[in-house]
Amino acid sequence: MAEPFDVLVIGTGITGLSAARQALKSGLSTATLEGMFFGGLVTNINELDGEIAGSGSDVAAGLMMEATKLGAKNITGAASSIGREGDVLVVESDAGSHRARSVVIASGARLKRLGVPGEADLEEKGVSHCADCDGPFYQVKDVVVVGGGDSALQEAIVLAEFAKTVHLIHRGEKFRAQAHLVERLSAHPNIAVRMAAAVEAVLGTDEVTGVRLAGGEVIACSGFFAYVGLEPVTGFVSAQIARDAGGFLNTDKDFLTAMPGVFAAGAVRSGYGGLLVHAMAEGIGAADAARTYLR
Ligand code: NAP
Repeated sequence: MAEPFDVLVIGTGITGLSAARQALKSGLSTATLEGMFFGGLVTNINELDGEIAGSGSDVAAGLMMEATKLGAKNITGAASSIGREGDVLVVESDAGSHRARSVVIASGARLKRLGVPGEADLEEKGVSHCADCDGPFYQVKDVVVVGGGDSALQEAIVLAEFAKTVHLIHRGEKFRAQAHLVERLSAHPNIAVRMAAAVEAVLGTDEVTGVRLAGGEVIACSGFFAYVGLEPVTGFVSAQIARDAGGFLNTDKDFLTAMPGVFAAGAVRSGYGGLLVHAMAEGIGAADAARTYLR
């Protein structure tokens, strides 16, 4: 039987790739396990707005190239469980069994759905989740964006470059997004903000034609984008690893979960800061913690 990897990183978003690169730099044999494309949610962002410049895809590709050059074994497979055989952790996936002495869970999070009638039926018929990818389809059309966090405002600003009007609908009285994003809204006269309003249904049969607000008002639109938060990707993680109320994995300050040798970092972790710099720092921190554990 082949030697177990020192570190198996589940997920190749920015956190996972940062963890893999760091583990390899420390001389640890490292594998990544990913069921989809590498890069994670950030690859939907063409222009990053924080301390790191460029597109999300460029940042992810750079990290992937570095990790691969350093010797990462990149396995394509969706994880289904993490177990233990003696001292060795065993991760099962649709690509087989993978043995490792430590595991970093960096499986990230996915966009939550608003969960209103019409939203699921009209998926890809006007219901979209990526402003940079689908924005050009809404040239001089009206779109609705729901949410008041960084994602909603960032994506509303992207859509404003294409759409005639972006209706930004927020349930609260105040945005929770970063101040610089709130400020940037005012530079776009075609973003119409509606506070204290709730979308009750997405309307249309073959394509989106509008949304109905609580109270009955209908806003006509061709595109619908809900950015109402994230849910962690943890279907393969056993109940032995505790979660917070939102389902995000609990760790100690060194990213260790309740399962010895299993660390969690990034958007899957309770307490994650949310910015790209945090994703990178957490990946590096978890790899360093795994190195200490292995010693
Ligand atoms: P978020 O910060 O959790 O914000 C979710 C928004 O959706 C909130 O405004 C919330 O309203 C609203 N919401 C939640 N459930 C709703 C419902 N059922 N109906 C209507 N509205 C609902 O999520 P996010 O914006 O996706 O951000 C996630 C993380 O990624 C954050 O840490 C964020 O900082 C980070 N992020 C950073 C950037 C960047 O740096 N440029 C970009 C994107 C995301 P309330 O405010 O009323 O609760």
